[in-house]
Parts: sequence; C-alpha cells; structure tokens
Amino acid sequence: MKVSFPYMGCVTGYKKVFETLGHEVVMPQKPTQKTIDLGVKYSPEFICFPFKVIMGTYIEAVQAGANVIVASGGNGPCRAGLYGEIHQKILKSMGHDVKFIVFDSMFRDFGLFYDNLKKIKNKIPIIKVLKNLWLSYQIICRMDEIEKEIKVLRAYEQKRGDFNRVWLEIQRMYDGCWTQKDIDKVTEQARKMLQEVPLKKVEEEEKIRIGIVGEIYVIMESSTNMDIEQTLNSMGIEVESVQYISDWVKHNIQPNFIGGSKSHQVIHKAKRFVKMNLGGHDMENIGWMVDFKERGFDAVVHLMPFGCLPELITQSAIPTISQELDLPILSLSLDEQNGTANNRTRIEAFVDLVRNKKRGGSVQKKEVKEPEYTDKVPEELAG
Ligand code: SF4
Repeated sequence: MKVSFPYMGCVTGYKKVFETLGHEVVMPQKPTQKTIDLGVKYSPEFICFPFKVIMGTYIEAVQAGANVIVASGGNGPCRAGLYGEIHQKILKSMGHDVKFIVFDSMFRDFGLFYDNLKKIKNKIPIIKVLKNLWLSYQIICRMDEIEKEIKVLRAYEQKRGDFNRVWLEIQRMYDGCWTQKDIDKVTEQARKMLQEVPLKKVEEEEKIRIGIVGEIYVIMESSTNMDIEQTLNSMGIEVESVQYISDWVKHNIQPNFIGGSKSHQVIHKAKRFVKMNLGGHDMENIGWMVDFKERGFDAVVHLMPFGCLPELITQSAIPTISQELDLPILSLSLDEQNGTANNRTRIEAFVDLVRNKKRGGSVQKKEVKEPEYTDKVPEELAG
C-alpha cells in the first residue's frame, strides 16, 4: 500500500507507524497557500476550514502516488465524523480511486477499530504490530514533551531562530529511531541541545504565560493559525497549547475508570458554564480555560476555524467566562482568506493588554465621547 495521511503538526510519529508496518509512505506536504486553494476549489463552500485544508493535502498526496489514506474520525454532532466519507467521494468524483481507513476511539466501536487495525497490519503478527505501535507512540510522546518545552523556552531565546534550528535537528534524530534504546538516547541528547541554547534573563514576575485552546486541527497545524505559537514566543510570551497527538491518543485509549487523560478531567471544570458537549472539543476547551486560570496563566487565545459549530458555541460563552474568571481571552476566527496583518494587530493589542494587567494596570477601555444629539441643523448644512 502507498499510504498517506493528513498533515497535522509534527508527523514523524505517523510516518514511523506505517514504516514499521512495511508500507510505502507518501509523505503529505505541509499545507501551503496552494494546498489551501486546491482544497477550497473542490470542497463544499460552507464546510469548515480544516476540511478544505485536508482536502487539498489529500489531492496533493494522491497526485504524488498515494492509494490509501489513513485518517482519524470524530464523533458527536460535528462534521469530523463525515470527513473520510466526503473526502473520498470528492476524490472519486475527480477520478481518484483511493481507499480510506478511518480510525475512531476504540471505546466507541472496538470491532471496527480492530478491523481497521487488520487492514493496515500488512500480514505482520498482531503482537509485533502492537509492539511497533507502542514504539511509534513512545516517539510521539517524547517529541511532544520536547515541543512543549520549546514553546516555553523559545520566548527567551537570545538569538531568534535558535530553537527552530534545534527542533528541526531533533525531529531528524527521532526519525532515525527504531528501538526503545534509540529513543532514550535521542531524548537525552535532545534535552542537552535545549539546555545549550543561550537564553535571556527575565524576572519571574515579568513572565507572561498564555494558553491556547480551540479546534484540534487549527491548533496543531501552524500553517492554518498564522504560526500563533511562534508569534507569541517572538513577543516574549510562554505558550502552552492543549492539543498534541500523544494527548489525543491518551484521550482515546486511556479508560476513564483509571483516571482518564487530563483532557477527560478538565471537562468537569466546564460544567459551571455549559451543561453538555455539543461536538468537537467545545466543552473540553471551556474546561481548559478554567484550568489555565487555576494554574495562574495570564490569558487564553481561542482558535476557531470558520464554519466550526462546536467552537462557535465556545466563542459565545467566552464573554461570560472571561468576566467571571477575570481572564483575558482573545478569540481568533481562521479561514482561507485570513489576512495575517489584521490578526497580528489584534494579537499585539491583546498582548499589550495582558502585560498592562500583569503590571497592575487596569484593563482600560478607551473612553469614547458620546456625540451630542440636537435638533439644530448645522450652519454649513442650513440652506
Ligand atoms: S470541530 Fe469544527 S472544524 Fe473541526 S471538524 Fe468539527 S465542525 Fe469542523
């Protein structure tokens, strides 16, 4: 099988899964404006933005030779559950006969999950498949841990670009891991590399931390979110986002009766503001906002793709949450026509507000003088 998959953040782990199962991997390309334009051209006009970007990615992958697409499905009243089927229909209408294998949480339908596993296992004994999956999962977990650290440390790098260069090298090193021993060695080396990057000295009380919540695809794929994490880091802000592949896997394989993942736990914190989950990660995101406040974060940025119903629900609750928690929250709507300059200005203004609040200044609204209304006709208009 010539396998491809959606491009979503760091894809080293997915690549490793299929390589260890002996498949030829057609690496999807990081989405560019060309990918987005291609996706927009062949997608329904009012479907959510991630669908269009992934559509473009699939078209490029199929044109590069992929004949099987492996993706994850979603559940609840959200379009993610239909992505695979609609993407496949569109590709078929374009003349591409591509097979889709869509994985969903094994707790929803273990039979379907196991059937899908059999389709990709490539005649390898199931024990070996599980061993390979575990190895890939270990790589993903270690890489996510390192990436989380980078999103904090990069705020203080002395020379712009140092951490990006180190991160590229670390990704290359993990790509060459085939055993647990390799992973441990690379992790140790990676940590040393992070420690060697020179940092600016910043007083603890001057540090600002912003949490990033929102729809999973636009959080994880920087090409759809104007590289928000890097933008904030370049302004000297520490960033923590709530979506990583390792966390998504934990969320879907770790049963609730043994504690569940952190994303399961934060859902309870949202109950003060919403009563039920309406699809996607809306309730979880509200829970994360409460969690960020409890952990002393200074603000939250909420990323919402155009056409996303669950995140529209989150957005509508933001004014109440922000006021009740005394937490600045900026909601950014992302689509294929988003001008970066407009959003960059909003982010800069938001960061100024957060800094001012941190330094004890009030969050002042500019006073606007109300016009005086009068029945008197101005002289210049009077006939
Ligand atoms: S969460 Fe929103 S953007 Fe993501 S698939 Fe569902 S509707 Fe679309």
